[in-house]
Amino acid sequence: MYFRDIIGQEEVKGRLIQSAKLGIVPHAQLFTEQGGAGAFALAVAYARYLNCRQRSDTDACGRCPSCLKYDELAHPDLHFVFPIVSKKDKKKEVCDDYLTEWRGFLQGRPYFSIDQWLEYMDAGNSQAIIYSKESDEIIRKLTLKIYEADYRVLLVWLPEKLHQTCANKLLKVIEEPPTNTIILMVSEAPDLIIGTIQSRAQRINVRPIKEDAVREALIRQYHLVEKDAKRIAHLAAGNYMKAMEAISMGEENEFFLEQFKTMMRNSWARNVKGMRAMADTMAAIGRERQKNFFAYCQHLIRENFVYRFQSAELNYMNKEEAGFAVNFAPFVNERNVFDLMEELAKAEQHIAQNVNAKMVFFDLGLRITVLIKK
Ligand SMILES: [Zn+2]
Repeated sequence: MYFRDIIGQEEVKGRLIQSAKLGIVPHAQLFTEQGGAGAFALAVAYARYLNCRQRSDTDACGRCPSCLKYDELAHPDLHFVFPIVSKKDKKKEVCDDYLTEWRGFLQGRPYFSIDQWLEYMDAGNSQAIIYSKESDEIIRKLTLKIYEADYRVLLVWLPEKLHQTCANKLLKVIEEPPTNTIILMVSEAPDLIIGTIQSRAQRINVRPIKEDAVREALIRQYHLVEKDAKRIAHLAAGNYMKAMEAISMGEENEFFLEQFKTMMRNSWARNVKGMRAMADTMAAIGRERQKNFFAYCQHLIRENFVYRFQSAELNYMNKEEAGFAVNFAPFVNERNVFDLMEELAKAEQHIAQNVNAKMVFFDLGLRITVLIKK
């Protein structure tokens, strides 16, 4: 993570770069954000910049020995503390036990959420915290001799998840910091951190990303067209996680539309083989998505029925859906619309009740064959 990987946030970047150049580096700093603004990546980029041997005016070099180790997040003077799920049977009780996963998780991922991390470490339904046992680890790491860095860095992700014992130890360290050591904390809920830590740390408020910066990044990284990028940037309200979610929902939407078309075409052509193939495809995607698909189909049937009245303000379809409606809408009429809706709702219900998905999809295909010709 370099400064250049972080979207927008020019003001904070400027401030951090200035701090490094002047050598005025507070030993405890608390980065705060509401999520998806890049606070964690900023903290890492700052730590890297501080230790880079050939930094430019805007970023670290990417070539010096320090940068190369930072690339792997494996610098001996860079330590991480982050919430984990203790797995005693697998001897995973402190952050370092998760270090391989943690590095893998962060690779190429400047923006992430605690939910993604939980999923990555296979946490099941457990809550992640920073356990009291971590206190000894922190002390141990900070009493080690510094290997080679100008600044040894302890990066604490989500200090609001610190166990009380651990928070008190960290406070002690902040009060009497070892030399050349800086503690960077990145929080999404600073109010939950003990007040004494809050008041002793320099606060860096990372605001939501500016809309224009999100729009530009979406075009650059995902090759969205201007109009879509603008719409998603607006919806995301400065949270890049939200923007990325909106795009992948777009992909799901595309997949559903394709499946919907296939289903209707199979039924119209009485293509039993095609119906079987589709049932196989859809059976494999999982119950939640199957339910979403049926909800989506009901929405499309309704929109295609309304489409006949040629009233744009009553229509809620995107460009691709509307394109399909030109040919498909005539098949949805007063004689079949309610039955089609009912069959789709029934299928959704059956999925919720754990009926065999292949059977549900195949059966539905057959029923639509009868209805679509009405
Ligand atoms: Zn460098």
